[in-house]
Amino acid sequence: MSHPSFFIKTFGCQMNSRDSEIMAQTLSEKGYVESMDMETSDLVILNTCSIRAKAEQKVMSLLGMLRNVRKRRPSMRICVAGCVAEQEGARLMERMPHVDLVLGTQNIYQLTTLLDNLDQAGRIATGLSPDYEIPAYIPVIPTFSDEQDRPFRKFLTIMQGCNNFCSYCVVPHTRGREISRKVKDIVAEAQALVDAGIKEITLLGQNVNSFGQTNSVTEDGSPYPFSLLLREISQLNGLKRLRFTTSNPKDLSDDLMRCFSEIDILCHHFHLPVQSGSNAVLKQMNRKYTRELYLDRVAGLRSYCSDISLSTDMIVGFPGETDEDFEQTMDLLETVRFHGSFSFKYSDRPGTRSSAFDNKVEEDLKTRRLQRFQKRQDEISLEHNQSFIDQTVEIMIEKISDEGLAGRTGSNHIVHVNDSNLPPCHPGDLLQVKIDHGGPHSLRGKLPAE
Ligand code: SF4
Repeated sequence: MSHPSFFIKTFGCQMNSRDSEIMAQTLSEKGYVESMDMETSDLVILNTCSIRAKAEQKVMSLLGMLRNVRKRRPSMRICVAGCVAEQEGARLMERMPHVDLVLGTQNIYQLTTLLDNLDQAGRIATGLSPDYEIPAYIPVIPTFSDEQDRPFRKFLTIMQGCNNFCSYCVVPHTRGREISRKVKDIVAEAQALVDAGIKEITLLGQNVNSFGQTNSVTEDGSPYPFSLLLREISQLNGLKRLRFTTSNPKDLSDDLMRCFSEIDILCHHFHLPVQSGSNAVLKQMNRKYTRELYLDRVAGLRSYCSDISLSTDMIVGFPGETDEDFEQTMDLLETVRFHGSFSFKYSDRPGTRSSAFDNKVEEDLKTRRLQRFQKRQDEISLEHNQSFIDQTVEIMIEKISDEGLAGRTGSNHIVHVNDSNLPPCHPGDLLQVKIDHGGPHSLRGKLPAE
């Protein structure tokens, strides 16, 4: 009997990557097999992102292409999942009659049931529910004949949605209100990952700092902050590294900062989005913190962990951003000296409050500001990378090839190792490396001398 095939194309953030894995697993459990060829697959899923206009345009152009494929292969099913699906649901069904299923962000676990229902229903669009609970779902890691192919790190979703309503952000509209998973489900999932040989887990949520604050996550309703969850998961035998993302500075507690000095396997890297260095802009963004509070959190993190590497997200050219505001952003960059940053020009996203602001910044000016920010960030990143020279660091091996291997430090720096004396090793193994070169985007090194 032949098994139906599926192809998933994922756009956007780690939350979407994890959702795609869950959809792939639910399909495999029902006998589907994964295909690498979109055009010949029985089911195509586009797991979409609406955080930037560009990602959304790519989805629309792929859907245009699939319209022709579907004409040649009418039995093909097309599903749009993720944030564009949630936001554009009804409009998408209208504009794209060849789309069979619009799968909202809360409905990924029902994928196969909804596919079964398509025969009767014709086409289906799902949406957000106020009573949503993230189901307990245990991941299955398939067995690999070649150790080099075996996955060694995984994302683990601990919460979904967001209640912060930053004025430029679509997430509260596309992923719904914040809901945290039950601690026992999270720990069971982490245990299953470790039992399957996973060495590094990244806990995922839109704002992990507020884990457990909007719903009860324990059987008896007792408070259970994120720092406690980190401590509990760090106890799992066999887990070598623990990471998390993403955080809103306003909810970053002292106890969470302290975890960096108390949990051995917690990687010394913190992604702490700031978005602007100007209090006036932060207010317009509805970020609910000031630059002073942000700098206070940075100082706190560094006091607990002097070598912590910090990265951030920055939006330049937010509506109303003056030259002075932008100088504040440049000044914050000089003060914090982030190891790296994801920086973007502000763009309107449908349904956000800021899209209605009338004091938009000229495109040319946004471009010039972004270039200036990125140039300075690149210089600072290079200086940080060069400061690793002659240091011995521990990397987790990610890739092995004939030329050598590549791995990542706890601080999230990529390290290339080319050494004729490399011991037999696999992805997920830890290795000590002495750095001899720091480039703009990565480091290079060799095994330390005995
Ligand atoms: S904290 Fe703000 S930027 Fe982050 S997901 Fe929530 S609303 Fe969006």
